[in-house]
Amino acid sequence: MLIDHLYRQLLDLESRALRRRCVIAESPCAPLQRVSGSRAGGDAPERNLLGFCSNDYLGLANHPSLGDALADGARRYGAGSGASHLVSGHSRAHAALAEELSEWMGPYIPQAGVLTFCTGYMANLALLTALGDAQATLFADKLNHASLIDGARLAKADLQRFAHCNLSVLAHQLAQCSTPIKLIVTDAVFSMDGDMADLPALLALAEQHDAMLIVDDAHGFGVLGPRGQGSLAHFGLCSDRIIYMGTLGKAAGLSGAFVAAHPTVIEWLVQTARTYIYSTASSPAIAHALRTSLALVAGEDGMRRRADLQQRIVQLREGLSACVARYADRGWQLPESATAIQPLIVGSNADALALAASLEARGLWVPAIRPPTVPVNTARLRITLCATHSAEDVSRLLDALDQAAKDLP
Ligand SMILES: *Cc1c(COP(=O)(O)O)cnc(C)c1O
Repeated sequence: MLIDHLYRQLLDLESRALRRRCVIAESPCAPLQRVSGSRAGGDAPERNLLGFCSNDYLGLANHPSLGDALADGARRYGAGSGASHLVSGHSRAHAALAEELSEWMGPYIPQAGVLTFCTGYMANLALLTALGDAQATLFADKLNHASLIDGARLAKADLQRFAHCNLSVLAHQLAQCSTPIKLIVTDAVFSMDGDMADLPALLALAEQHDAMLIVDDAHGFGVLGPRGQGSLAHFGLCSDRIIYMGTLGKAAGLSGAFVAAHPTVIEWLVQTARTYIYSTASSPAIAHALRTSLALVAGEDGMRRRADLQQRIVQLREGLSACVARYADRGWQLPESATAIQPLIVGSNADALALAASLEARGLWVPAIRPPTVPVNTARLRITLCATHSAEDVSRLLDALDQAAKDLP
């Protein structure tokens, strides 16, 4: 019977330290949060934790101006959209947001058209299924985000995966490929590792082999580039071969996503992307508030936040390198990462969990990321930084990590 079948599998997950549980955030998203519930299951008292886990890189998720803009948007445009975009759910707020985003992306994708989605997951499914037809081959980095992997699985296109950031493998695959349409698909900033794809080299390969380059900039939009325009600005790229996906639930502090691309690509998505056509449009209040978020990201406030974030990244990396060296016999690794995502790879699931639990006992909240999210034997603490972390917050994490490392069996 299904219930027994599932129950046995859940027990199996539990026994391999792979069962996941939500804790409940009792206070808004911020470095210091009040939480209840336990990752280990059962009851746990409410407590305050200093978190290094959110993707709220600029600390905008609880910005008062965004709360006000959301309320203003609900009053002006209503709380719900009532239908999918093509039926009647496409409000003036959605149209204005798309127009603003296409101005943002114009310097990087000539005449960029923009289509907004409820989530990045939906945008990626849309892109890969609508563009990856039977005439196409998808070339995907092996460490791409789950939503790109799922999109590739649903697509009719042939799928070729290349080893993480291995451009010579990719070049070989492109040279061998005989389908008329070729789509290179990559995260700009890899979500569990924090390293960046070499977008200039990928674009050069795309040009050489008459391919398109699909860039998922979930962790770059708002953070990278002088005004937070994302990874294309960071690298100074401009090409109509680029199909860009940015998310609005991370640095932008709200929720949603958008695709920016040549207008013909956008029009094709409108006509064929099933996650666009068959899903209710996001709340117009969110679309409205996102325009305030864009102004914050690009303005003085955003510049200051990006500068603060940069200082915390440098501080954390220095401390983590020292920690890895101090406990060298444990064989931990701190991979190269210049972004707000800093993974401390410890190897075994049990060690990652023990470290996370020990940190939590010290009032710190750092997620232990295990397979299947990351490859086997690369379980890690995924530390993420926000502009709203103070230097003292980072020192507190480093001290606690040192203690936790000592206490590990
Ligand atoms: C978070 C994330 C997504 C999904 O975006 P949502 O808006 O959260 O659905 C897609 N790609 C990457 C790389 C991500 O990190």
